[in-house]
Amino acid sequence: MTTRIINGTLLTSGPEHQTLKADVYVTGDRITHIGDVPAEADETIDATGCVVMPGFVQSHIHLCQTLFRGAADDLELLDWLKKRIWKLEAAHDRLSLRTSAQLAVAEMMRGGTTCALTMESVHHTESALEVVEESGFRAVVGKCLMDKGDDVPDGLRETTDHARTESLRLIDAWHGRADGRVRVAFAPRFVLSCTEDLMRDVAAIARKRGVLVHTHASENRDEIAIVERETGFRNIRYFHEIGMTGPNVCVAHCIWLDDEETEILAETGTHVLHCPSSNLKLGSGIASVVELLERGISVSLGADGAPCNNRLDAFTEMRTAALLQKMRRGASRLTAREAFVMATWNGARALGLADDIGSLEIGKRADLVVVNLETLHAAPHPDPLSALVYAATAQDVRDVLIDGRRVVRGGELTTLDEGAIIRDARTQFVATAARAGLG
Ligand SMILES: [Zn+2]
Repeated sequence: MTTRIINGTLLTSGPEHQTLKADVYVTGDRITHIGDVPAEADETIDATGCVVMPGFVQSHIHLCQTLFRGAADDLELLDWLKKRIWKLEAAHDRLSLRTSAQLAVAEMMRGGTTCALTMESVHHTESALEVVEESGFRAVVGKCLMDKGDDVPDGLRETTDHARTESLRLIDAWHGRADGRVRVAFAPRFVLSCTEDLMRDVAAIARKRGVLVHTHASENRDEIAIVERETGFRNIRYFHEIGMTGPNVCVAHCIWLDDEETEILAETGTHVLHCPSSNLKLGSGIASVVELLERGISVSLGADGAPCNNRLDAFTEMRTAALLQKMRRGASRLTAREAFVMATWNGARALGLADDIGSLEIGKRADLVVVNLETLHAAPHPDPLSALVYAATAQDVRDVLIDGRRVVRGGELTTLDEGAIIRDARTQFVATAARAGLG
């Protein structure tokens, strides 16, 4: 299968980001030509008036929570978890989790996200993995680990041994499936949900097996106070003490860091996953992204869970990330280019996939997005990158390829049934909320 994408403006991303008029040619699952492309192809996409870019990589998503969109508004983190999210997650069955993952993947692919790092619930992670495999989406999926904690419903409680063995079972069964498109990570929820034994073990096994560790830290000041009381350390220092820092460790939020913690992140190459909308909606705070980037720390973007956002929209996160840093540090900070690179290239780096995705380069996987800029809200776009970051919306995404396969064609999903997913989401939400006693 070959595809030509012609007449578009390329936004290449990567450390050497370029904006250029050029055609792209895809052979099988790879980009094989940029610029001078063969005249014949099985399919030709005319991208006149559009930008062609690498797919967004969202580095912090919970597929399992998408069903709970709009069911946990106006709460701070610990109440949000204890009063709503944990009860709802505990009430998931295989089918409700499958619907939740389908809704998430459909929304993301339709909006130009081609890859995500996701944290699921304690049970039924296989349902999420199946949806990723079937839909053509690319993801690194982790089963949530929760072997301790207060106010945790029975349905989410697990032993240390279960947390470990179930993760290893999923890694053995799924890591690298679909030619590497489906991958598995360890996902210890956060310090308050995991024993030190489990976190130490997981950190060591992940390093040995070459898989990611995906967790949350330093999101909320009440959370940090409990972590300090329980461990004697601030969050990132504690992770460092137990061996859970390094280039395979991805930490969502990192809002409230002291200088020592920032230093640890920089020295160890630990990745920060910034979720600006979620941080605002839960009233958590604003991360010091400019300072983290200045220290050379990799900061990428994610929408987090639908119930704390409430969209899974990379455009919203890019724009919000940039606007927040301008408010903190002045209008010249966090430029459109920096926000775009965070949303693509830095995401690929966090996931350990920068050799394969995250920028438009010959030889890379063909995870490509065509975004129409010929709209009232983006015209006249003298600078296409500015238009993409500050003006375009997810609805402007026209075509999406993952591994060279067209998963969105002219704004329509080709591998998932949008109408059926919206109907199933309603039914499955009602059933799950009833099981949770929140109906
Ligand atoms: Zn999260």
